[in-house]
Amino acid sequence: MTRLRAEAAPEAPGSQPGLYVHVPFCRSKCPYCGFYSVVDPESQDRWLAALELEAGQSRSAWQPFDTCYVGGGTPSALADDALVRLSELLDRTFSISTGAERTLEVNPADVTPGRARLWRELGFDRVSVGIQSFRATELRWLGRRHDPDQAARALDDLRAAGFGSVGIDLVQGLPGQSLNKRLESLERALAFDPEHLSVYELTVEPNTPLAREVAACRSELQDPDLAADAWLATSEELSRRGYDHYEVSNYARGEGHRSRHNSKYWTLVPYLGLGPAAHSFSGRARWSNVRSVPDYCRALEYAEKPIEHEEELSDEQLRWERVALGLRTSDGITKNELGDGSEELETRAAGLVDQGLAKHAGDRLVPTLRGMLVADAMARCLLFGSKS
Ligand code: SF4
Repeated sequence: MTRLRAEAAPEAPGSQPGLYVHVPFCRSKCPYCGFYSVVDPESQDRWLAALELEAGQSRSAWQPFDTCYVGGGTPSALADDALVRLSELLDRTFSISTGAERTLEVNPADVTPGRARLWRELGFDRVSVGIQSFRATELRWLGRRHDPDQAARALDDLRAAGFGSVGIDLVQGLPGQSLNKRLESLERALAFDPEHLSVYELTVEPNTPLAREVAACRSELQDPDLAADAWLATSEELSRRGYDHYEVSNYARGEGHRSRHNSKYWTLVPYLGLGPAAHSFSGRARWSNVRSVPDYCRALEYAEKPIEHEEELSDEQLRWERVALGLRTSDGITKNELGDGSEELETRAAGLVDQGLAKHAGDRLVPTLRGMLVADAMARCLLFGSKS
């Protein structure tokens, strides 16, 4: 077994591309989830062989990386020897800079003391744990494989194995969930002092069992105004507890614990995605792989690229994305990113400041908490002069 390789020092921390690997396997499917994954452990060997071919196709155009994020799907659903092979393959193929952030997504039901130690030995220094809720009834409704006690044991095991950067994912806004119940899960998560928290509002993803339930009026999501109030209450509580609310759904215990990898997505730093359904961005072009393990493997076995969709972004599209994504973060956007400094833009920005949705911070325009909630509408207002 080898660790992910440490190579030459980074040129400028955070500015190098990020590497993402999509592990397209889960042990079971959660009814609300729109991410691509299959329950098919038999395909792991073929997928790994195809992934090696895809890595080989990409290596010369993409080095070095300063983040490596193994997500999914459920990476912890991989057999131990498959995860070792995956780490060795990344190590062999790519240059990953000294001090790179290396994240592994794990399901609490898969964590044991031995596996947690293995993940550390493989060089992962950050785990993102899909706990979603600390309430048993909610976990059952979400179709999760674990219960609250397993979640707690998993967090203890990960700490004991030496993970100094632990992120907890929560899903909120379940039908009928009161603010108190939301805060109860949050409180239980905080008892483990996570360095990072992602708190997502439940959304209805197309073609999922939840979407069919909602269409058949068997489930009803929360009223958007109540969800917005709960989001504000969550943010206020976490700020009071020392967390930096740095993106709409993400909180870090200090700037050093922000997700450097995910921050690349919000600041348009290039990233390479490997695996079925993975997305990549070169700084100008964007492409995504086929959402099918067999099609992905077949393409690579025939020495073809497994790409399903690609597009070249225009200057206008890039500007839109930079502004819309930037306003979802507490760093906001620079005046340069906003555009030409015309009087019209200045007037629109001043209008947002007057409404309490944004504020100036040096040469940046940053959203207030209320502004973060309506980041898309603010971007439309700034760039096109309208909110719709
Ligand atoms: S939420 Fe996670 S474990 Fe559940 S189906 Fe989606 S990727 Fe798999």
